[in-house]
Amino acid sequence: NVQHNNDVHIPRYVRVNTLKTTVEDVIDYLKRDGFSYQGTASQLEDLRSLSGKTFMSDLHLRDLLVFSAKVNFHDHYLYKAGHIILQDKASCLPAYLLDPPVGGHVIDACAAPGNKTSHLAAIMKNKGKLFAFDRDTKRLSTMSTLLLRAGVTCHQLANEDFLKVDPLSPAYKDVKHILLDPSCSGSGMVCLHDGGSEEQDPERLKALAAFQLRCLNHALKFPKLQNLVYSTCSIHTQENEEVMSVCLEKNPDFRLIHLLPEWPERGRDPLTQCLRASTTKTFTHGFFIAMLERQTTRNSGSL
Ligand code: SAM
Repeated sequence: NVQHNNDVHIPRYVRVNTLKTTVEDVIDYLKRDGFSYQGTASQLEDLRSLSGKTFMSDLHLRDLLVFSAKVNFHDHYLYKAGHIILQDKASCLPAYLLDPPVGGHVIDACAAPGNKTSHLAAIMKNKGKLFAFDRDTKRLSTMSTLLLRAGVTCHQLANEDFLKVDPLSPAYKDVKHILLDPSCSGSGMVCLHDGGSEEQDPERLKALAAFQLRCLNHALKFPKLQNLVYSTCSIHTQENEEVMSVCLEKNPDFRLIHLLPEWPERGRDPLTQCLRASTTKTFTHGFFIAMLERQTTRNSGSL
């Protein structure tokens, strides 16, 4: 279910793939290619002032460049060579906020087509282990191509149902970080061209929320887990704050982390530790992000 709106203006966001290049080199390349660099945005509104071939660095995310919505990079050398990834700003937040350490063991539970996986790999500098699962074979094959182009090497791709992955398997004994971006209604995704809109089916939403909660509860069973980021591209409270609230009740040894105090849009009350994103307030697609942290107890594991 996708919002359709011809008046919406979302800039073109470009994530620099630091596995292959640097932000400085990409800026230099683009300048030589006729683009004009305006420096780092000082306020969110700046991102909407871009036109023609002007671009700037984002004010929240270091590796993100912002262009006018009309700029198309699909045929550009930097894109084809995997030096840049075309990824909405909101969708860059989950990996950025999870911020796994170089050399860490990390799970991307519902990973295809893999934009967040490649972002995680960049943050980990391709060191450590990145276990990526998806149960959709076709999406996984797209993902393999994308990861190859992006130069990701620290991953292990598995065509597996995450709910069937054994949290107690020795393979995952050092997993401390999980990114969970499960299937959702997609109600935050804005289609800028088509007309018409679909109604959300209440039964489908209920089923999605139940699935998302199962994924969350399952992910929290990994014994060494410290931090988990949960994200959806849905604007429905039912798939976001409500799922998170039930999960917190069931897993009292985890608590929410207060994310990015400077971010302008928060999770619905009382879950204001979480982030929301929207076309109107953050100039992105609609998104929800929560981060859980295991509460440290002297006797963790026995509670
Ligand atoms: N994180 C991805 C990215 O940034 O490119 C997008 C993930 S998409 C929102 C959700 C994915 O979850 C789909 O590719 C879907 O096939 C997968 N999925 C759904 N149920 C699953 C399950 N039980 N186990 C593993 N993957 C699942």
